[in-house]
Amino acid sequence: MTLADRPPAAALLFQTLLAHGPLTRADVGRRTGLSAGAITKVATPLLTDGWIVELGRSAERTNGRPATLIAVRAERARFVGMKITGDELIGVLADLTAQTRATARAGLGSRDVGTVVLTIARLVDRLSAQVAPREREPGAIQGIGVTISGDVDGHTGTVQYSPFLNWRRVPLADLVRAATGIPTVIENDVRALTVAEQWFGAGVGLSSFAVVTVGAGIGCGISIGGRVVSGAHGVAGEVGHLPVGGTDRVCTCGNTGCVEAVASTQAITEQARQAVGDPALTMDEAVRLAHAGHSGVRAVFSRAGRAMGLALASVANLVGPERIIISGEGLATYDLYEDEIRSTFAARAFGAAADCDLVVRPLPFEEWARGGAAVAVQRVFAPAK
Ligand SMILES: [Zn+2]
Repeated sequence: MTLADRPPAAALLFQTLLAHGPLTRADVGRRTGLSAGAITKVATPLLTDGWIVELGRSAERTNGRPATLIAVRAERARFVGMKITGDELIGVLADLTAQTRATARAGLGSRDVGTVVLTIARLVDRLSAQVAPREREPGAIQGIGVTISGDVDGHTGTVQYSPFLNWRRVPLADLVRAATGIPTVIENDVRALTVAEQWFGAGVGLSSFAVVTVGAGIGCGISIGGRVVSGAHGVAGEVGHLPVGGTDRVCTCGNTGCVEAVASTQAITEQARQAVGDPALTMDEAVRLAHAGHSGVRAVFSRAGRAMGLALASVANLVGPERIIISGEGLATYDLYEDEIRSTFAARAFGAAADCDLVVRPLPFEEWARGGAAVAVQRVFAPAK
């Protein structure tokens, strides 16, 4: 019996143990509202099948006897998480608690769907080969979670639109499943990162938070009441396409005035090229010029910072999260727009929304890939409705 076939109380017990570590049955009861009888009923088969394990005794006593701690058995299942960027795959092999056991990367020679799927399958094999032989038997990997930027429908496993790969309506989950023989889920990369932050990052224990990522795109994942918002139609949190004004630049989505049209890495590079009059200027050179005080290039970074500050203020005004975590590869140049981000946020966040804590958190792509593994784990015990 898979976890997904079990009653909802089993998923609740499992989720509680994943989030809060070893607990006594009484702790589980306090956190979930399940009765002692209900906990015994769902815990016994999970213990028998090895999904959870009894550890030592806690200091707490039940009827005069020390209470037993129960915990998720991390080694019961393995999962692969993968992030696809425009030119590379980043993969992790994780256990049932989404702890990373192995990592690997592979370059993408082409963005053609067949090539990417084949490269994913090869990277899964490489990750498997990194673990002990006894853990390598077929079926040892319970699921794969692939994450990709853009409009991703996790329910049908379809990439509706990926601007960076130029993919439309690609049934990626089915293709990866066919190539690897392993159940596969896909998710928008920023939402997967948000799941990881909710589970074991800077979002642990918060009633609501958002992750805003800056870099090749401007993304946002929103967690409310312990759930990452996925949108009724598969799109949510697309702050990169909030209209913040300006008609001089066309966004990857085809509109003008989007945050991404002035604040993505590509947009900053193109504007810096215009400011300097050098069509071959690289981002690294633009950063050097900005640090050296080139006023035109500094203005480009300031404009990007204002757009991002407006995006953050919009998230705070709409959702009112306890915290906004700012991450993404664009943090490498964060010092060049931090002042504008913070001042714009302070000016535009309405009233107490400005109390939202802004946390800057550099996270490597392996952490994004780990989000894919976390999504795959979640799907096993709490399948998408
Ligand atoms: Zn746009």
